[in-house]
Amino acid sequence: MPQSPSSEVRKKLETLRNRFRDKTIRELEGLVSSIFSASEHSESIGELVGAYQLFHRLAGSAGTLGFTQLGEQARKLEIALKPLADQVAAGDDSEGIRLQLRQLLTTGYKDDIVGLCTLLDTTEPVSTSWEQPRVTEIDDRAVLMLLEPDKKLADLISQGLALYGYRVRTLSSGHLWPDNISDVDLIMVRDTFLQDEREHWLSRFSGLPVICFSEAHDFTTRYRLACLGVDACLEDPQDIPALADRVEHLLAEGLATLNGRVMIVDDDRELLEHYRLVLTSGGLQVRTLDDPTDLLSELAEFRPDILLMDVQMGQYEGPALARMLRFQAEWLSLPIIFFSSEEDRDLQLDVLARGGDDFVTKPVSDEFLLRTVRIRCYRARQLGKLVSLDSLTGLLKHALAKTELNREFARCTRTRHDSVVAMLDLDHFKQVNDTYGHGTGDMVIKALSNLLRHRLRDTDIIGRYGGEEFVVVLPECSLGKAVEVLEALCQDFARLVFNGGSGEFSVTFSAGVALLNSYESGEQAIEAADRALFERKRRGRNGVSMAPDGGRDLLTAN
Ligand code: GH3
Ligand code: MG
Ligand code: MG
Repeated sequence: MPQSPSSEVRKKLETLRNRFRDKTIRELEGLVSSIFSASEHSESIGELVGAYQLFHRLAGSAGTLGFTQLGEQARKLEIALKPLADQVAAGDDSEGIRLQLRQLLTTGYKDDIVGLCTLLDTTEPVSTSWEQPRVTEIDDRAVLMLLEPDKKLADLISQGLALYGYRVRTLSSGHLWPDNISDVDLIMVRDTFLQDEREHWLSRFSGLPVICFSEAHDFTTRYRLACLGVDACLEDPQDIPALADRVEHLLAEGLATLNGRVMIVDDDRELLEHYRLVLTSGGLQVRTLDDPTDLLSELAEFRPDILLMDVQMGQYEGPALARMLRFQAEWLSLPIIFFSSEEDRDLQLDVLARGGDDFVTKPVSDEFLLRTVRIRCYRARQLGKLVSLDSLTGLLKHALAKTELNREFARCTRTRHDSVVAMLDLDHFKQVNDTYGHGTGDMVIKALSNLLRHRLRDTDIIGRYGGEEFVVVLPECSLGKAVEVLEALCQDFARLVFNGGSGEFSVTFSAGVALLNSYESGEQAIEAADRALFERKRRGRNGVSMAPDGGRDLLTAN
């Protein structure tokens, strides 16, 4: 019988626990005899340090691996033994330490230590109840589920969003809610559907992003919607560009967190393996490392979004490793997060001062680990984007778009394939700003960006070249095909209806295209596309013109 991914993960987590249990039984047997011989013989007092280190390690790992009680007990013993272990390490009088140890043992700690092994029989159930990633095809268009009682409005929304390349499934009643919504990426729902509290909407939403259509402005209603799991609230879903923008944002958040990359460094192999299982089953890409000496080479190869690291790894200290990483400009902005225990508050501040960014407290539950790592990967990516992407549109900024264009120029001249560069410009845009205001103008710019991003291929390069001007590079594409694609985009964009407060309106754009590989440089190709755009503007706008010179397949495209 085929197993679901989660039952497979659960089995692996169980195996890991058993391995941890076997190993810990042996370690605890050694520990008990160490402590008793340290209390009996002065020459064995050094063994206390090893015992303290084992308690420290178990306090951090046992809870995460499901042995919560063992972890808590180990924490208690760790705290009790710490002053003694510190004295041993400082070379204090062993007789005095031995006395303190015996005192400790007679005040109940003896039973605690002997009883540790029995705590290995008590475990928390293995859970894999966190969200599993959905397997989606690369070219899969996003599916949106729409619950809207007004049939006319539902049609308008479906048609409008279809222009952006979304597939919309419409339901007119909550009773029709299907059992299986595994192909759905986002839910849009009218607030009236959510009025019945007994319907348990939160579980129906299955963790998907939810946009609610609601005209209510009062705190109570909005708070209730937030409690039900709603992510965005829109008053006027007829404003398709605004709706598409929200959809795009919410979907992008999910994607960014799904394929986040995380590297974990810890010297405890079972713990590492546990983290790896949990995070990969949650859709993240994970690289684990138990030997910090490989850190630099592994980082360069894997390029994670974030780095998770233990504070103490054998002879290596996490904070020093963090500081070492910051020697290299390349890793200055890499978020470094430490696993540490509640008791380490002073150390935590110290670590922050030395190049770490944040902490996750050990033991960490699987759900918490997954969520915190997802969020941090997402934030790290957002920060990275701020540097290279235009803030209004999320498209490449001018300079980066040009770099990408030149890269494609080099590629297409080397491998002799056709690639096209296009310049796009909104028509009479000054008038839009003058009539409806700059804010509405911004919405139009965003709408065109979203349309381009959705309808072009993932491999196409799209940049915001100037205010209302865009550059698009279509690798491995003929001039004729490019014209066809852009003409269709012109027509669909012209069909979008914007709401400008003082009335509804539409906007068009014009484009000029040139064959990238028939020019001497990327720069020349852009100039040719720009001239073609100018020609289009002169000849009536809302359409596409080809560069008159240098387009090799000019005749075939016509
Ligand atoms: P044409 O069809 O010939 O391109 O006419 P146009 O009015 O679009 O061209 P023009 O270059 O005269 O005006 C472009 C306008 O775009 C002027 C500028 O204020 C506006 N614009 C540039 N950047 C932005 C922006 O980020 N937001 C908004 N709302 N407007 C912008
Ligand atoms: Mg313009
Ligand atoms: Mg312009």
